[in-house]
Order: sequence, then structure tokens, then C-alpha cells
Amino acid sequence: MDKKVYVDNAATTPVLPEVAEEIERVMTGVWGNPSGLYSRGQEAKETLEDARRRIAVCLGCLPEELYFTSCGSESDNWAIKGTALAKSKKGKHIIVSSYEHHAVLHSVRALAKQGYDITYVKPRHDGIVYPEDVEKEIRADTVLICVMAANNEIGSINPIKEIASAAHAHGVVFFSDGVQAAGHIPVDLHDLGVDMFSFSGHKFNAPKGVGGLYIKKGAVVRNLIDGGAQERGKRAGTENVPYIVGMAKALEIAVARLDDNERVAKMRDRLAAGLSEIGYSRINGGMEHRLPGNLNMSFEFVEGESLLLLSDAAGICLSTGSACSSASLEPSHVLLSIGVPVEIAHGSLRFSLSHENTEEDVDYILEKMPGIVARLRDMSPLYDARRM
Ligand code: PLP
Repeated sequence: MDKKVYVDNAATTPVLPEVAEEIERVMTGVWGNPSGLYSRGQEAKETLEDARRRIAVCLGCLPEELYFTSCGSESDNWAIKGTALAKSKKGKHIIVSSYEHHAVLHSVRALAKQGYDITYVKPRHDGIVYPEDVEKEIRADTVLICVMAANNEIGSINPIKEIASAAHAHGVVFFSDGVQAAGHIPVDLHDLGVDMFSFSGHKFNAPKGVGGLYIKKGAVVRNLIDGGAQERGKRAGTENVPYIVGMAKALEIAVARLDDNERVAKMRDRLAAGLSEIGYSRINGGMEHRLPGNLNMSFEFVEGESLLLLSDAAGICLSTGSACSSASLEPSHVLLSIGVPVEIAHGSLRFSLSHENTEEDVDYILEKMPGIVARLRDMSPLYDARRM
């Protein structure tokens, strides 16, 4: 049988069998509407609240600070648009890092069309957003700062606690997109001091289509989805109880597996060292504060899309950037943000390993990738020109 190696875990992860079992149990057995006042409804309500308590334990917050949503994108939109609307009397200035996920960048872009003023702060070459770079942009009319906890393309882990305290020193609300962080690195929301934090089940072995938003007690955020009184009147729509329970189970498993991060990081480092032996290659972003499974590399004189297709033919599933930008031929805004030249950004690949990956997977990638790069370079006029 042909070998398959899946190293695109930042795009999505498989649902674990234990998670699927839990979902099936709730889907078929606890199918009442949690808003129902009769016993079948109350049983669903209790199951829902139990999941909320379990997730709160994993993230270091109170259950009543968690609101369930349909995905990370919804949570990001809600945090940003909901805060901007709630604070519009105070001011209309928002600070955002320039390498956020499009769910964040396009949310602030939508606000810009309504008269909000947006300041984009660049990460430095190591891929980190520095608190002082953010703090110096704060103005009297700044109402919101958004900096992601971990970047989805280059895996950089930001000093969120320090950025939160810089924001608070000036009375500004701080939101962090935690979609790539939750379940992957330790997260203690009360210790971090953020006002809002988004997460998404499918990034840590729960199904797609379920996520959440942490809103610190006392933070004022307008509703994004109006309707019934679900989620304490803040997010209408009958809750997806089976998937929420699955997300709780998956997050518990993910948090219990954080001890295995060191092994994943070692595999990642071996992959980085091996691939760095390919000429004209470079690692994008610093290696120090980085998600354990993330490696982003550029191979000069080749296109990321061609690399992706030949890798796929060899059974290796990976990405040229974030899943959302993989359908476009635009160079990654993340790589451009950290100063990678356009032509080099075009030839980049993201490997995102998980606990399911093995040393054999790394061996296999190291065996296949040099040949794939060489084959494409042999067809590249730019590579030929360099040799002349
Ligand atoms: N934020 C980040 C950092 C992400 O990586 C993603 C997904 O790739 C999202 C938000 C969007 O999450 P979802 O796919 O659940 O909408």
C-alpha cells in the first residue's frame, strides 16, 4: 500500500476515535433541546454545562466566561466587531498585528469601511510581535488590540501576557486569536490576562464547525448573532451539544498530551535540519518561541504550489501557507510581514506535525523532498540562469 504522511495539522486534524464515540453517544442519546424545560431538555442542558466546565478547566477560566460558536472565524468576528460596536463612543482606533488570520484581518477591514482607523503592527524578523511595538501605537481613541497567541503559518508564539498588560495599562481591551494555541501549548487565560480568546475544535481533534470565545467576566461585547436566549443571551442558536461535548473531550486529551510536545518538537527539528541541507532553502521565522509541530521553509527557484502537488503525489499532505490562502496564488501575507522577499515567499511550504506523526514519517519526508525540489529546479529557468 502507498505511504501517506499527513503533516497539515495546522489546517485541520482528524477526529479521534474516543471523541467520535462521545459525539455518537450524545447525538443519539442526549438529543433534547438544551433550552427545553422538560427532563429531556434539562438532561441536554446539564450535558452542555458539563462540557463548558471541562473546557474551562483546560483553559484556566470560569465556565460562565465561555461561549460556544460555530468556528474560530465566528469567534474572531464576534470579538472584534462586538467590541468595536460596544466601544464606539470611546473611539474608533484598532491596533492589529499584520500577520493575523484573515478572520481577523477581514473583520477589521470591514470595520475600516465603517469609519474605524486601523493600525497594523508588524512582527519582527523572528516572527514575534513585540509588546513595545504594540504599545507605542496606542492612542487616546484606541479601543481594541488584537494579537494572535500563535501564528498559523510560521508557528510563532507571542508574548500575550505582556501585550495584555501593556493594553490594560492604557485601558484598552485586548483580544487574542487562540485558534492555533488552544490544545497545543499550555493556556491559562486568567494568568494571561486577555479579555477575549478564540478557539476552534477542529484544530485539536474535534470536528469542524464548533468553536468558542472566552469573554472575561465584565467585558462588554455586543452580540454578533441575535435571536433566542442561548448562551446567556449573547449568542443565539440552538447549541450543537454533541460537537461541544466532543470538543471538551478532545481538549482534555490534547491538554493531557502536552507532555509529548518535546517529542514532536524534536521530530520537527530533525526535519528542519534535514531539509536545510537542500541548497537555497531557508527556515521562515525563529525557532525559539514556536509551536512544537510547526516548520515553515522556503525553497528558492520553485513554486510552493508545484511543491505541494508533487508532495501530494508522493503521499505527503502539507500546505503552502494557511488553508484559506492555499487556493490563491498570492504570496503569503505572513511571510511578507516578516520580511521574506516575494519571490522566496512563493516557494514556501508549511509542515505541521502532530502527536500522531512518527520518526518514520520524518524519514519519509526527508527521503522524498530533496528529489521533488531538484526535479522542479531542473525545470526552472530561474535556477538555470543562476548557474550561468
Ligand atoms: N484563526 C487562526 C489562527 C486559524 O489558523 C484559523 C484556521 O485556520 C482560524 C482562525 C479560523 O478557524 P475556523 O476554521 O474554525 O473558522
